[in-house]
Amino acid sequence: MATVAFIGLGNMGGPMAANLAKEGYTVRAYDLSEQALEAAKDHGCEVAGSAREAAAEADFVISMLPAGKHVKALYVDGDEALFEVIKLGALVIDCSTIDADTARSVAAIGEQRGIDFVDAPVSGGVSGALAGTLTFIVGGSKAQFEKVTPVLGVMGRNIFHAGDHGAGQVAKACNNMLLSVLMAGTCEAINMGVKNGLDPAVLSDIMRKSSGGNWVLNVYNPYPGVMESVPAANAYQGGFLVDLMMKDLGLAMDISQQSASPVPMGSAARTLFTQHKANGNGKLDFSSLMQLYQDKEGE
Ligand code: NAD
Repeated sequence: MATVAFIGLGNMGGPMAANLAKEGYTVRAYDLSEQALEAAKDHGCEVAGSAREAAAEADFVISMLPAGKHVKALYVDGDEALFEVIKLGALVIDCSTIDADTARSVAAIGEQRGIDFVDAPVSGGVSGALAGTLTFIVGGSKAQFEKVTPVLGVMGRNIFHAGDHGAGQVAKACNNMLLSVLMAGTCEAINMGVKNGLDPAVLSDIMRKSSGGNWVLNVYNPYPGVMESVPAANAYQGGFLVDLMMKDLGLAMDISQQSASPVPMGSAARTLFTQHKANGNGKLDFSSLMQLYQDKEGE
């Protein structure tokens, strides 16, 4: 079976690498964190001493890093500069959520060196990464998409080809901007109902089965006590951090500006999340936006 270098073993990358190892791939894992490396070893990965060591003989190189500057440094101009050591014919799959411009420029530099690079950001969160049910949104050529589909299929359930390089990142930004709007709208509707004497669980069920139904009401209710096994049931720990939603909304605003696309709803949601982060909630799950509405009750 193919050898996969996996760089970036955080909340998402750790379980994704573990699923590849479980399936029988030889996974050479690397992260800056010793703790992440230990966990990867426990899950059947081989631990490498550097990203270069992990990537040198790999058939696939997968990265799951925080932002565009980390991805560019890893492949192009940082200490590791992996494009110098990745073998010809290997496929690079960057699953990080980054700006589309960086995805396009790194892909173009890879192409000059005979290395295929696709952007493949994911949706589905940590639970999807653990369960191997992520959605991958791939930007690259049709031929590259076909080559990466089998390996992505081990970590995910839905694999989409969004278009050429960068298109995966644009689609991901559109999706997460919409998610922020759905979360804000759901929080304010539940809060208004509760302030008017409704039971949040009953109201949520009514809206879920009516025309206001949406993903947040279906699987990620932000009101504590309505749903089990969601961050709202666990003091908003874990899940998808407000800080990461802020990063994604920043990427969406950049795309809207570059393409002169009006995003008044996305901008309004971003203002709310900015205020919520400024209140010290950056490390809570994004459904904790509920608290912003509840806090306002006392004003
Ligand atoms: P994380 O902070 O938990 O993990 C990032 C990991 O990268 C860390 O372990 C860090 O040590 C490592 N790292 C950073 N620079 C490195 C380098 N040069 N070499 C090796 N390792 C390096 O973040 P995460 O939650 O796993 O998210 C990763 C990406 O996935 C982000 O772009 C995020 O926006 C995206 N994403 C996250 C979620 C989620 O629910 N957490 C969902 C979808 C997409």
